[in-house]
Amino acid sequence: MKTRNSAKRPARRTSVAAKRARKPAAGGKYSAIRRELEKQRQAILDETGEGLTKRERPEAFPDVSDQASAEVDQNFSMRIKEREQKLLKKIDEALDRMNKNIYGICERCEEEIPYQRLKARPVTTLCIACKTLQEQEEKVRR
Ligand SMILES: [Zn+2]
Repeated sequence: MKTRNSAKRPARRTSVAAKRARKPAAGGKYSAIRRELEKQRQAILDETGEGLTKRERPEAFPDVSDQASAEVDQNFSMRIKEREQKLLKKIDEALDRMNKNIYGICERCEEEIPYQRLKARPVTTLCIACKTLQEQEEKVRR
């Protein structure tokens, strides 16, 4: 049997991503940023105690009211930690992009975002030009 259809992947990104995807994931270029993101991520998890609740959450609540109050507690703490949650999500997405080898590529123009900008703002998905454009558009919309 010669039929193997594993190699065909949908090309979601153009140029830079395609070029990069051919190379094995070295992880060298952004390893410092990755370490920084992972450190930030851990700090947020420690602070919000999310890691703890996830690990210690019981499989099932014996009582419905227990479950309800647990959910209220969770909603409450989630509202307080909304900012952290948002940042955490961005960090996770950035790490995910690193794993997919598309980290550091602008979502709009698909050019590489300068390293200095990534270093200053590791979770960004836009280059400065596109970010400026986006902000202008948001102002117009308001
Ligand atoms: Zn751009």
